[in-house]
Amino acid sequence: MARNVLDELNSAKLENLRSQIRVLKETSQFYRVKFRSVDPQSIATIDDLASLPYTSNQEIRDAGPFGLLLDGAMPEAYFESSGTTGQPTVGFPDLSHEKAKSFADFLDGWMGLRNERIKRALVSLAYEMNPTGSRFQMALPYAGVTVIPSGVRSTICPPEKILSLITTLKPDALFSRPFEVLRMADGLRQLGVEAGDTSVRKVFVLGEPISKNKWRRMRSAWDDADLYAHYGLTEVDTGLHSCSNGYYHAPASPFSHFSLVDAQLKPVVKDGTRGEIVISVLKKAHAPLVNYRTGDLATKLSGRCACGSDHPRYDIIGRQADGIELGGKTVFPIEVEELVYGVEDVGNEYLFILKDGGELLLLLERAFGSRKTPEEIALDVAERARSGLGIEVGVTVKEYGTIADKLGIAKKKGARFTDLRGLDAETRRDELRVNVVDSDQLRSGSGIPISI
Ligand SMILES: [Zn+2]
Repeated sequence: MARNVLDELNSAKLENLRSQIRVLKETSQFYRVKFRSVDPQSIATIDDLASLPYTSNQEIRDAGPFGLLLDGAMPEAYFESSGTTGQPTVGFPDLSHEKAKSFADFLDGWMGLRNERIKRALVSLAYEMNPTGSRFQMALPYAGVTVIPSGVRSTICPPEKILSLITTLKPDALFSRPFEVLRMADGLRQLGVEAGDTSVRKVFVLGEPISKNKWRRMRSAWDDADLYAHYGLTEVDTGLHSCSNGYYHAPASPFSHFSLVDAQLKPVVKDGTRGEIVISVLKKAHAPLVNYRTGDLATKLSGRCACGSDHPRYDIIGRQADGIELGGKTVFPIEVEELVYGVEDVGNEYLFILKDGGELLLLLERAFGSRKTPEEIALDVAERARSGLGIEVGVTVKEYGTIADKLGIAKKKGARFTDLRGLDAETRRDELRVNVVDSDQLRSGSGIPISI
């Protein structure tokens, strides 16, 4: 992108920021206090955001379910995050038809939906309490796509039913979460169908950090399907979008701004350095957040991306809170995932178990069709952990399909540690279960998969 285009974008952002602060000071109880000493006209560049007060996740939780809503706001729906860390975080995304139309235009331009005649899409994303399913449901028809709303991790449309929808209705595109996309491929194989032989040509994923090797695995499982990923949060109506190389780019839009800050809340300016992602929403919204600390870490990368884009690009590492201290350094689940998914003989299912003494045990399974013994694979992974990450890990490799029932409903998102430290025996057993429901529990007494 030419320098003057970036300058123009930044000056449009500056105007939007000033006006957003004026709106917030007038109509937000929360920001009226936080920004009381901020004069919008004194903000000279978009980078001055760094000197404004930050908004933390805890603050918006403390403000209560409706505490961030602007005076007079009439949101279409109430959503909240799963609250795995305790209290949920609420969000009021724009679910208007105007927003759906503009989202459809964005998706169409990005994914080439009309050009490539994408007619049907299976949307295997949450429709309950989470806006992702509804967002795609509302937008895709405007891009000429009929939606098959299967939901995800649901007993109403369980995994076996989802797989049968893929084989019988032949969707051209699949919208889901990374772990489910890999599991669907495994589940199809179990039913005698290769995911690569289905009609799916485009795969869209969100909701989890994705290692480069997972990116590669998802593509190859679906026969080099075009892969698209989005990073966003329930509480902000914007996000980063991936390019063909698996990096996340900031949108070329004057209505949001992304930056990274270090532990002292100073802007991360050096490329290749990690920082916490900070998001500012610079347009009208029901409950806009400015200088919002996401709690997620990313690395900012320099130079033009191999995809040709000059827009800022990031590698997303995951939640700051997910890092563990190991061998004198902080290790994130995505780094361990990158390591194990780099070994072709390792299957897609895994548990990264943190034991009481702080030891990390990788419970893995053999890849389908692997000719190596579990012992050989374990040695290979342990050696790579030593040489690649500089950490000592225990590795146990089981036979393909023995870690989890692939037609069941998984309990956790991918790229997480299973932390057993300090747990009692019962909670420990529960933590080690990969599925919340196995496929036999998803069948009626006659053995027929349940469905609506
Ligand atoms: Zn790129």
